[in-house]
Amino acid sequence: REELMWDEHIRLFIRPVYFQPRGFMVIGKALPSQIPGTWNRVVDLRSDIATKPSLEMREVMMEALERSDILDEDPEVNDLQNFAAEMLGMEAALFVPTGTMSNLIAVMVHCPERGDEMIVGDLSHLHIYEQGGSAQLAGVHTTTVTTLPDGTFDLEQLESRVRLFYPKPVFCHTRLICVENTHNIRGGRVLPLDFLQELRALADRHGLSVHMDGARLMNAAVAQGVAPSTILQYVHTVSVSLNKGLGAPVGNILAGPRDFISRAVRCRKALGGVLWQVGPLAAAGRLALVNMKNRLEKDHHNAKTFAQALLDCGPHLFTLDLEAVETNIVRFYLKQNHWTPSEFCERMAQVCEGEEAQLGQRIKVRMIVHVGNAVRAVWYHGISAEDTQLVIQKIQFVASQKMESLKENQM
Ligand SMILES: *Cc1c(COP(=O)(O)O)cnc(C)c1O
Repeated sequence: REELMWDEHIRLFIRPVYFQPRGFMVIGKALPSQIPGTWNRVVDLRSDIATKPSLEMREVMMEALERSDILDEDPEVNDLQNFAAEMLGMEAALFVPTGTMSNLIAVMVHCPERGDEMIVGDLSHLHIYEQGGSAQLAGVHTTTVTTLPDGTFDLEQLESRVRLFYPKPVFCHTRLICVENTHNIRGGRVLPLDFLQELRALADRHGLSVHMDGARLMNAAVAQGVAPSTILQYVHTVSVSLNKGLGAPVGNILAGPRDFISRAVRCRKALGGVLWQVGPLAAAGRLALVNMKNRLEKDHHNAKTFAQALLDCGPHLFTLDLEAVETNIVRFYLKQNHWTPSEFCERMAQVCEGEEAQLGQRIKVRMIVHVGNAVRAVWYHGISAEDTQLVIQKIQFVASQKMESLKENQM
């Protein structure tokens, strides 16, 4: 690498960084410091929101800029909404800026009266990561059920939460059940179809609606090898992220029956969620949906490869449930007495002295400490099979260093 000339350098490093987003970047802006041998390659596995648009997507976005129209007449937005509705097997779909807003709108429409109630998993994104927006802004009361390790609920427990004696004045009116697929905190777990079928039957018995927070619905469909509409036959409405694994920069689809979407349009406006000149984002979102299958299969494959390699390289250092790695998220644990998850993440994000000489590369890997003292790594567009191999080599290196230091301490 020391012998690289500048133009070679530009071909290998600068062009890929600026023109072919591949999930890595150069740290530090000053050119003089970027002399051969000091380049840091960063593989960012913290979250699939870090995705950058592919070259093809950038081109489609540029074209859409020309065609984009104002107000409700934007052909790109209409195309996206029609395409999404068709793909999801729903009557209608709506472009919404974020998943958080999309879930909130769903709650507002399904629970129209102040004091209406919804039932959600205690580890759901809606419950944990959305600041209680349903209470703050929609006046909706939440009851939780236990989220099981595979993201499902115990259906008996769920049924026990439904208020059977409404309209007795002391009770809320239970209106809605929300499920999450794939399940974020549970590490990308896919909800089994028979669970959804039974849950829907329960909801029907009590006249409840079912909303799916499907930020990663497409990951679930690809993992199960079914059409998204096969999963969605069991729910009334769904929210799907176009960002995350699908790779568009921004955007979310909320889909459901036509009358639900007409009411959602009003809520979106009230929440300030109408964006102007949004054609390029809609075009990116549509392309993300068109390409989703091939894309996500690669992510799932890379995540599984990584998980297997972890088990192979450090059975004394790492634990994880390989069966639970169903999609693009890997959650694993460290043997506590050796190091803490944050020490491990810090080490992976550094290049230590002598590392380049021994490993033949300078690579920084970013991961996060996740719920329950796990370490989490997430795959998305821009993290290639090659990146995955680099990450594995780095982990093997860090693990062997750790094993050596443990041996020394024992002596
Ligand atoms: C990311 C995420 C959301 C929220 O989406 P934003 O677009 O970040 O608001 C909702 N639910 C789940 C499961 C998510 O992973």
